[in-house]
Amino acid sequence: MPSFEVVATCGGARRGRLTTAHGVVETPVFMPVGTQATVKSLEPRDLDAMDVQIILANTYHLLVRPGPEIVGACGGLHRFMGWKGPILTDSGGFQVFSLATLRKMTPEGVRFNSHVDGRNLFLGPVESMAVQRVLGSDIAMCFDECPPYPCDPAYAQQAVARTLQWARTCREQPRAEGQMVFGIVQGGDDAALRASCARELAAMDFDGYAVGGVSVGEPEDVLVREMALGVAELPFDKPRYVMGLGDLWQIVEGVARGVDMFDCVMPTRHARNGTAFTRDGPLHIKAGEFKADTRPIEAGCTCYACQNFPRAYVRHLLNVGEILGVRLLTLHNIHCYMCFMAEMRAAIADGTFGEWAKEQKERLRGASAEGGSRRGGGGPPPRPPRQAWGEPTPRGGGESGQGCPAAATEGGESGQGCPAAATEGGEPGHGCPARAAGGGPPLA
Ligand SMILES: [Zn+2]
Repeated sequence: MPSFEVVATCGGARRGRLTTAHGVVETPVFMPVGTQATVKSLEPRDLDAMDVQIILANTYHLLVRPGPEIVGACGGLHRFMGWKGPILTDSGGFQVFSLATLRKMTPEGVRFNSHVDGRNLFLGPVESMAVQRVLGSDIAMCFDECPPYPCDPAYAQQAVARTLQWARTCREQPRAEGQMVFGIVQGGDDAALRASCARELAAMDFDGYAVGGVSVGEPEDVLVREMALGVAELPFDKPRYVMGLGDLWQIVEGVARGVDMFDCVMPTRHARNGTAFTRDGPLHIKAGEFKADTRPIEAGCTCYACQNFPRAYVRHLLNVGEILGVRLLTLHNIHCYMCFMAEMRAAIADGTFGEWAKEQKERLRGASAEGGSRRGGGGPPPRPPRQAWGEPTPRGGGESGQGCPAAATEGGESGQGCPAAATEGGEPGHGCPARAAGGGPPLA
């Protein structure tokens, strides 16, 4: 039966174990985003090979296409997409507000036109939970309203009231067998509002709790404060998830404050833009300086891409638009995230999280502060501002992770991971790179 236990702590950081209907998730965990029932360019066996523990899919997108009846006829989302591990589904609340057009709010939910074909649809707490039940996800999220940043205080209050009302409704709905339901804390940048929202949700006794509405365009200090505010009021013995947070250093900040779960489209979306994430910051692989570079994407990385191909090849593939380029970079990026989380879990279990976190943040932030030339074009593409409400969205989907760097591209990822199969302790056999600084096999 679904359960969660904290198996070790180190300062505010927690090493936990979340048992779902489709397997155990060792936390802290990063969940790769598979908005449209696929982690873009990867097969489930790729995810398995990288020790991905849990992935995310999206109710809004799967409601619009192909429709829950199709997924249901195939036996649910796990069978539909050939993934046997745990799945978390976002409720669609965020996407209804960020992607759909001609929205009309009612106390029961939102009537809107699909961003794909303009079809008139309705999604509220009852409908969202019904779709998530058919999908058969292991963790269903409550249908919520995510206010933008900045937000008028009166509006933020109204959004929290609606989110709480909808949470009560969600809690009463029938569930798939073994399905957990998480409540979502909203409240914008208002400390008191976030705290009271968290307390009220905690009183409803959900299986876990998420902090939503962060990483929606606010400055970093505000983001960290919002995250801390949301988490502080949540029960210790339940999993805590911050939605849409994907910068590695932000994940460290979250874990230091007791967050267990993360998701973001960054490692997959930025791969499609030619950005490789490394432990020393991002690399823009399409840059001219890598034209004849015989080294792997990241020295010391044990991923399939780094073990077999030079940067010059990956750059060539990307520059001529070959699909394999995106796939190799996605493999590397997800592997990077998985290894980062596995090391983090080991550090918490060892009681060395503080030192580990300090070292990682210095490497990651130092690299971004140094700017671009050394790293080849400097950092990932700037995070686009969250789309304003009511602003039309380009057709074709868009990545709609809650709070994730918005921006629509073809398809769309809307997650709110990278799993490393762990056992408490050192996670033996994970295959993570013992990354000797500057090491790694030359591929010349
Ligand atoms: Zn690699």
